[in-house]
Amino acid sequence: MVTLEKQAAPNTAQTWQQTQIEVKNPVTGQVIGSVPAMNADDVRQAATKARAAQPAWEVRGAKERAALLRRWADMLWDDQKTAIQKVRAETGKNEIGAWLEVFVVDNVVAYYHKHAAHLLRPQGRRSLIPMKQTARVYYKAHGVAGFITPWNYPLNNAMIDLIPALIAGNTVLLKPSEITPYTAIYAIELMYKAGIPRDVIQVVTGAGVTGAALVDVVDYISFTGSTATGRKIAMRAAERLIPCSLELGGKDPLIVLNDADVNLAAAGTLVGALENCGQVCISTERVYVEDGIYDQYVERIKYYADQLTLGSGDGFDVHVGSLTNEREILRAEQQVADAVAKGATVIHGGKRRPDLGPLFYEPTILTGVNHNMDVMREETFGPLIPVMRVKDANEAIKLANDNQYGLSASIFTSDLKRGEQLATRIESGDVCVNATQWVFGTISLPMGGVKNSGMGRRNGPEGLMRFVKPQSVLVDNQLMQKPNLTLGDPFAIRVALLLRSIRRAIPFLGV
Ligand code: ADP
Repeated sequence: MVTLEKQAAPNTAQTWQQTQIEVKNPVTGQVIGSVPAMNADDVRQAATKARAAQPAWEVRGAKERAALLRRWADMLWDDQKTAIQKVRAETGKNEIGAWLEVFVVDNVVAYYHKHAAHLLRPQGRRSLIPMKQTARVYYKAHGVAGFITPWNYPLNNAMIDLIPALIAGNTVLLKPSEITPYTAIYAIELMYKAGIPRDVIQVVTGAGVTGAALVDVVDYISFTGSTATGRKIAMRAAERLIPCSLELGGKDPLIVLNDADVNLAAAGTLVGALENCGQVCISTERVYVEDGIYDQYVERIKYYADQLTLGSGDGFDVHVGSLTNEREILRAEQQVADAVAKGATVIHGGKRRPDLGPLFYEPTILTGVNHNMDVMREETFGPLIPVMRVKDANEAIKLANDNQYGLSASIFTSDLKRGEQLATRIESGDVCVNATQWVFGTISLPMGGVKNSGMGRRNGPEGLMRFVKPQSVLVDNQLMQKPNLTLGDPFAIRVALLLRSIRRAIPFLGV
């Protein structure tokens, strides 16, 4: 387990021997600290503590656990300046983006605080012989749940899955990204201050090998990150026969129909594509515009793009901050070069901005693109907006579905009914009509992917119920029962047959 104290003064010989992983501020390039690269023994020890703490945690009940998390979320809200500073220091994102992380976490806690106890209560089910037998489902925690999380949303992606896991009665081991561990460490320290016992939630720090060691010791694994790593984790989970959920990559399409409000569509595209500089799994990554509105749309998106503020300054009016990871700039540059070589035109941006910091890259709009280009097929994770002209909605949907991923999608249209109908034809975990990314902030809605975007859902009832295993309990009150050596007890069978006859003869009784 990593605590702030332990990082400051490692207290075992073993910790001293471990290599440390440096964490950098992407805007300044300076090292802001280092965390231990924990080995398999460290992870196993943490799991032993988590396993020992789990039964007492589960006995406390969902209401009490939710109240503790509510207290934590209130403390986080009150301390949001610190949270925002932690997020920005290790990601380089703009202030509004960091604040949104706090806001979403608060909403997740509010949702499950309100609904979890009800969703987790034992559920009565219909039994075969109602007067004689009762049937009920109990929802029990898996035990120790593991979380492996990425660097793009160090607060959100680290917290929003483990909140329902804790409320469901699991104890938790979190391995945050080695690129952004400090936000998670800060948030977990705050959980201890809110009264959550230390062994109930622990942070294990390290890179991929530490993550792999975690998959080996937990009873459930929740992963958010790349499709390549997600596949490895799913394979190991399958070997161990533990359940898992995977929130992976995306290549989200945005469709603009002829009847769309062109200003809302153009500005909405920029929001969807540029939140966190495009380093978002549910980022808008390709735009299909119907022929009749295409020219107007291109003019409008350029108009709004010219008004964007880029930089590392404070304040909610800075629209685009730094990228976090040099790898993502290289990927964006490669995709732009590939597209231009195949005939695309850069109509806005297209360059690094070293004058602002080492990892700034201009929001970049490309036209004349097609599906032979990497920018329309491969995941981006940078501020690129390729725009393609299509002849009608059918072609747009066909192209939207022509991809290995299926996470989120958007349609802009003034015909809301048609928009909703078209939405259901897109192969994705969610679709927003006249919006981008809002499903993610709407905690009652399950969010997750199809195809190579993953499996399982976060948020909503689905996001909670993945952290429990149903146990069915049937109780027979022994009415009219005599010792009997076959499973077909004569009285029970007679009642069941009588009920069957009634059901067939008078269906509306609902027997
Ligand atoms: P990215 O670096 O693009 O976010 P990754 O999927 O590589 O995507 O990383 C996401 C998280 O998965 C990080 O916390 C990382 O340390 C962890 N990780 C990387 N490789 C493995 C692995 N083989 N097993 C378990 N976790 C891993």
